[in-house]
Amino acid sequence: MTPIIIAIDGYSSTGKGTFAVEIARRLGILYLDSGALYRTVTLYALQNGHIEWNGEIHDRRLQEDIFLGKIDISVMPKSDGTMRIFLGDEDVSGRVREMEVARNVSAIATLPFVRNFVDEQLHRLGAKGCVMDGRDIGTAVFPNADLKIFMTADAQIRAQRRVKQMEEAGGRPSFEEILKNVQERDYIDSHRAMNPLRQAEDAIVLDNSHMTVEEQMVWLDGILRERFNLSVL
Ligand code: C5P
Repeated sequence: MTPIIIAIDGYSSTGKGTFAVEIARRLGILYLDSGALYRTVTLYALQNGHIEWNGEIHDRRLQEDIFLGKIDISVMPKSDGTMRIFLGDEDVSGRVREMEVARNVSAIATLPFVRNFVDEQLHRLGAKGCVMDGRDIGTAVFPNADLKIFMTADAQIRAQRRVKQMEEAGGRPSFEEILKNVQERDYIDSHRAMNPLRQAEDAIVLDNSHMTVEEQMVWLDGILRERFNLSVL
C-alpha cells in the first residue's frame, strides 16, 4: 500500500465521497469516510434516546457512553473502494444515510467530546495511509497530510446531486428539504467553535460544479504525477 495520506475537505454534498472512493480504488489505498463516523455516533444517540424529537441532545448521557466505551465503531473496506461501517455487530452503512441522522448529525458533530472520540478512531484507522474525506481532515485530523484538497460547488447543484442519489436508492426526497439541509449543515459546520470547516492554507481548491468525475480525475492526475510520480488514469 502506498503510505500516502490524502485529505479531502469541503462543503456537504460536493461529491467528496465519490471523488475519494475513486482515488482510493485507482491507487489501491484505503478510503475512510469521516462523516460516516459522525453519522454513526448520531445513530447511536438516536437509538439510545440521547436526542429528543425536537433535536435537544442529552450530551452528558452521550459523553458517559463514549467514556464507558459503549460505542463500538468498526469499518470494513470493500473491493469497489467504498467502506462498510458497523455499530457493534450491525452493518449501519445504509441507516446512517437516513434523513433523521442527516438532520441531527451536524449538531452532534459540534460537541468537543464527540470530535475527540471520532478523531481518535480516524487516527487509528488511517495512520498507515488513506484517502479520507470530511470537514477538518487537512486542518485538524491530519494537518501533515501529503495532499490536501478543498472541494466546493454551487449549493443548488449539490442539492440536485443528493436528490438524484436518494432517488437512485429508492427514496422520494424533496428538493427544498435537501437544499435546506445542505445549507444548514454548511452553516453549522463553518461556524462551530471546535475545528470548523475551513480551507487549510496549503489545500488546493477544486470547484466541481461543472465537472464530471472523470474530469476531476484528470485534474488530480496532473498533481499526483508532478508531486508523487503517481497516476490515477
Ligand atoms: O460528509 P457527511 O455529510 O456524511 O458528514 C456528516 C456530517 O458530519 C457533516 O454535516 C458534518 O457536520 C460532520 N462532519 C464533521 N467533520 C468531518 C466530517 C463530517 O463535522 N470531518
